[in-house]
Amino acid sequence: MSEGRLIVVEDDLAMQRLLKTQLTARGFDVHVVDNGPDALTAVADMSPDLVLLDIGLPGMDGLEVCRNLREWSSGPIILVSAQDAPQTKEQALEMGADDYLTKPFHIGELVARIRAVLRRAGKLTTQVQTVVEIGPLRIDTVKRQVIRDGVEVRVTKTEFDLLKEFVNNADRVLTYDQLLRAIWGPGYDDPRLVHVHVCNLRRKIETGPGGMRYIIATAGVGYMLRSSGG
Ligand code: CA
Repeated sequence: MSEGRLIVVEDDLAMQRLLKTQLTARGFDVHVVDNGPDALTAVADMSPDLVLLDIGLPGMDGLEVCRNLREWSSGPIILVSAQDAPQTKEQALEMGADDYLTKPFHIGELVARIRAVLRRAGKLTTQVQTVVEIGPLRIDTVKRQVIRDGVEVRVTKTEFDLLKEFVNNADRVLTYDQLLRAIWGPGYDDPRLVHVHVCNLRRKIETGPGGMRYIIATAGVGYMLRSSGG
């Protein structure tokens, strides 16, 4: 059984090999990327258990990657710095990193830190399951946030309420009446209200690369969210 899925963000080839070999040997699944933009895509695609993030990266540095990740992901991050600069450590923690490590470090110390952060995160995630993933979509029902392919999709309150209702009833048809009652409340009976908002929502979440369809219309009845897309 895997100790956890890690994304290692590191531009130094020797360091990449060392981390990949040593962490794999200790039971982790390790995916290595060598720059910030690829790190963001990888986290969105893979939802790793933890990100080990080098600060010294070409282009977008590790602090920038960390700040960007924190806009939509609460997953564990350990930042790694080459120099022991106290202000960098402060910055790292302010950016939302869970821990901070300075090179050079012993692999044993790194593994201990990773396990400690995973343990703490595990306690949190068992309390509330707030993030649902459907294809390229990541829906956080507490933060009321929708991410598609790593990019936040701006939706209105009504659109989010609709999406949440679909997510909670995935792969089941919701009738116009059920949706009207759930989102708008009693006294609303015009299916066009549902239709307009569902169309707007679909335009936002279903366009883009791949063009998968998730919300399916059942003529005269209502809509269904397909968790597998099509
Ligand atoms: Ca580096």
